[in-house]
Amino acid sequence: MIDSKDGTVLEKYSLGVGDRFAHQAKAQLAACIKARERGASVVPVWNKSNREHNIVGSEPQSARDAADAAVRALGWGEPYYVDADHINLGTVDRFLGSCDFFTLDVAEAIGRHPKSGAVEAFLGRHHELVGRIEIEGLSHPLTITKDKAFSAAAKYLFAVHEAGEIYRHVAKRKGEDTFVTEVSMDETDSPQTPSELLLILAAISDEGIPIQTIAPKFTGRFNKGVDYVGNLEQFETEFASDVAVIAYAAGRYRLPKNLKLSVHSGSDKFSIYAPIRRALGKFDAGVHLKTAGTTWLEELIGLAEAGGEGLAMAKEVYAEAFAHQKELCEPYAAVIDIDTKKLPAPAEVAKWTAEQYAGALRHDQKNPLFNPNLRQLLHVGYKVAAKMGERYTKMLEACEESISRNVTGNLFDRHIEPLFLGS
Ligand SMILES: [Zn+2]
Repeated sequence: MIDSKDGTVLEKYSLGVGDRFAHQAKAQLAACIKARERGASVVPVWNKSNREHNIVGSEPQSARDAADAAVRALGWGEPYYVDADHINLGTVDRFLGSCDFFTLDVAEAIGRHPKSGAVEAFLGRHHELVGRIEIEGLSHPLTITKDKAFSAAAKYLFAVHEAGEIYRHVAKRKGEDTFVTEVSMDETDSPQTPSELLLILAAISDEGIPIQTIAPKFTGRFNKGVDYVGNLEQFETEFASDVAVIAYAAGRYRLPKNLKLSVHSGSDKFSIYAPIRRALGKFDAGVHLKTAGTTWLEELIGLAEAGGEGLAMAKEVYAEAFAHQKELCEPYAAVIDIDTKKLPAPAEVAKWTAEQYAGALRHDQKNPLFNPNLRQLLHVGYKVAAKMGERYTKMLEACEESISRNVTGNLFDRHIEPLFLGS
């Protein structure tokens, strides 16, 4: 039994925020404060993956320090977390001291063969997973054939076991119940069906992982920094089914009662916030929305709006990103769709006004200046700013007013308000 923990229990609504250069924690927290003032309790989770730390050249402790400092400065009395995002056994150790939220990424282990007899033993323990399964809130019962159950177990058991190994590694060093555990399977090719999700959760329970959030891969494209691409109706049906399955699995398999979905690459997915909100309302469920790079893009917008040297630096970042497209896009190939023919030439951008730059980059689909290709390239282009080092972070400080206005406004107006406040 792994429910009824008194330890670290993640709140119903949480917002993952990413702060690549550790300068925006205050502006991000200000968005959560605004949410509270408007009646929605949304706790911040500062997340930074190993990949981001490596590209920026930072250590996990810097994310903790920035979060703590922001919380102190603004007098935030509610919980907050620092998430070791997308870690595995090979990368988790340097996050142990500074994080209290761990996203165990086992996407790469999906499809690997579990040890012999494991699938049979699992299905032998779980006869209830074969046949018709009535789930409250679903209009049709799930129907899982023996073959389907077998192939799903064969596909996911190894990955779930891997999650168990990482969880036990962290728990042994930090102590059980001292951190939030998420399991992520989103960075993979094929989405998991609600039936597969149920089986995965049964396996996670068997592994003894007190999972509080799970990040499946949903149907459709979740490209970085731009809107959802896919069939909205299908997404809504699937999302609502996942929420129903989670509520069912939490009871049936005695997983933590606050178990909820985590939506990765969740920033800027404006067209699915209303469907998600409807599904959550129907089941009175919570959600974790993970965002990261959307904040770094607001830094660039703020630099541009500051004019002068700030605007010049924003243009320089674009020119460099344009010149190094291939290298910058490679680690993110599965989560971007850039039409390179529609990228403006750096010489043209060099002539732009602040309004033109901000207009092309800001995620306002109604603005004719908006260019999603430029936006995606800059989204993955933070390495360029990382290479500028202090020259970049000093400019962030010089242009703080226009940057923090954009960082807070983006998180609150375009994310918190539609998703958590429904306006
Ligand atoms: Zn992710």
